[in-house]
Amino acid sequence: MLRTFTVDKVHAGIVPESTLFKALRYLDRERYETPFLLIDREKVREKVSRIGRAIRNARVFYAVKANPDIEILRYLNRLRMNFEIASEGELEMLARLRVSPSRIISSNPVKSLKFLRMAAAYGVSTLSFDSADEVRKLADTIPRANVYVRLSVPNEGSEWPLSKKFGVELDEALELLVHARDRGLNPVGITFHVGSQCTNLYNWNIALDKAKTLWDRAERKGIALSILNIGGGYPIRYTKNVIEIEAIERNVDSLIFERFPRNVQVHIEPGRAVVGDAGIMVTTVIGKAKRGDEDWVYLDVGVFNGLMESVGGIKYSYLVERTGAARSRKFWTIAGPSCDSFDVIDKNVQMPEPRVGDLMLILSSGAYTVSYASEFNGFAIPKTILL
Ligand SMILES: *Cc1c(COP(=O)(O)O)cnc(C)c1O
Repeated sequence: MLRTFTVDKVHAGIVPESTLFKALRYLDRERYETPFLLIDREKVREKVSRIGRAIRNARVFYAVKANPDIEILRYLNRLRMNFEIASEGELEMLARLRVSPSRIISSNPVKSLKFLRMAAAYGVSTLSFDSADEVRKLADTIPRANVYVRLSVPNEGSEWPLSKKFGVELDEALELLVHARDRGLNPVGITFHVGSQCTNLYNWNIALDKAKTLWDRAERKGIALSILNIGGGYPIRYTKNVIEIEAIERNVDSLIFERFPRNVQVHIEPGRAVVGDAGIMVTTVIGKAKRGDEDWVYLDVGVFNGLMESVGGIKYSYLVERTGAARSRKFWTIAGPSCDSFDVIDKNVQMPEPRVGDLMLILSSGAYTVSYASEFNGFAIPKTILL
C-alpha cells in the first residue's frame, strides 16, 4: 500500500531527507506490523565518521545503553567503533561479536561484583570509580586495572542530567586516586559527564577546568595521568536546532590542547549522538477522543514501550500520514496505548488530524527508546530494523 506523508521543512530540518525517504520507501514496499524502529545505517556511519574527528588524540566509545540492538552493535563493530558498557548483559552482547577487550571500557562508577568478575575474565581492564568501596571491589577482581575517577560537574542545560547519582568533588577525587594507587590499581585518568542531550557549551568548559585542577593535583602526588574521558552528552535535533558536534569538539579540543599535556589521550563516550537521529519510530494511531476541550490521539507506542524519555522532557517531532484530503491542524495530546494515565507522550502538538489506522512517525527516536522499553500491560517492545 502506498503511504502519503506531507514532509515539510520542519521535518526535513530534524532528520536528513535521505533518512526520511529511505523510511518512506520501506513503508511502501514491505509488509509490517507496528510499532517498530527504523535505523538508517548511512546516518549512523556519517555520525561515526564525524564524532571525535575535531579532537586530537581522540578515541570514541559508543555508550551501548543508548541502543544495544545486536545488529547496531554488529554494524558499529564493523566500523571499528569502541564500546562503553555497564553490565554483564552488555558485555555478553559484545562477547557474542568477539569485540576485543582492548576496545571496551566501563564508565559506570558503581559496578556489581558479578559484572567485574565477568569483565576480568573477558579482559576488560579500563574502568571508572568514584568511591572507596569501588576501589576495593576493583582491586579484588581486576588487580592492576586501569582506573579513572568520576568527577561531579554541572549538568545545567542538559535535558537529561546525570550528575546527582555519580561523581565526587575535587578533594575526594584526589584522595580516591591516591587510594586506588595504594591498593595496587593503576590510576590513569579522569572522567565526567556533562549531562545527556547537553546544549550548553559552557558545561564542557567548567568540567575541563575542574579536570585540569585535579590532573595537576594528582601530578603533585606523583600520579601521572594519561587519559581524559569527557563522557557523552553530544546533543541531537528533536524539535529544534542544537549546537553542532564540530563546534563542541573544536571548543573542547582547543581547551585540552592549551591546558593539558600534549600526549593526553581523550576518550569520548557518545550514545545518543551515534544512533538517536538515525532512528524513526513507526507507530499506528489506535484511537482518538475529545476530553473536555483537549483532542487526544492514542498510539501503539507510549511511555512504557519506547518513549520513556518524553516524561523527562524530550520533545519529539511527529510526521502524520495523510490518507485523505488535507485536514485542519489542531493541537493534540499524544498518548500511548497502556491503561496508565502516566502514559502521555506529549501535549499541545500542532499537527494535521490523523485517522485511526494511520501511521505516525516519530523522528530522532533511535536512542534511549527501545533500550528503556518494557512490555507493561502486554504492549510489544518495538523491533529494530536497520535500513
Ligand atoms: C549514558 C552514558 C554515556 C552516553 O551519554 P549520551 O548523552 O547518550 O552521549 C556516556 N558515558 C556514560 C558513563 C554514561 O552513563
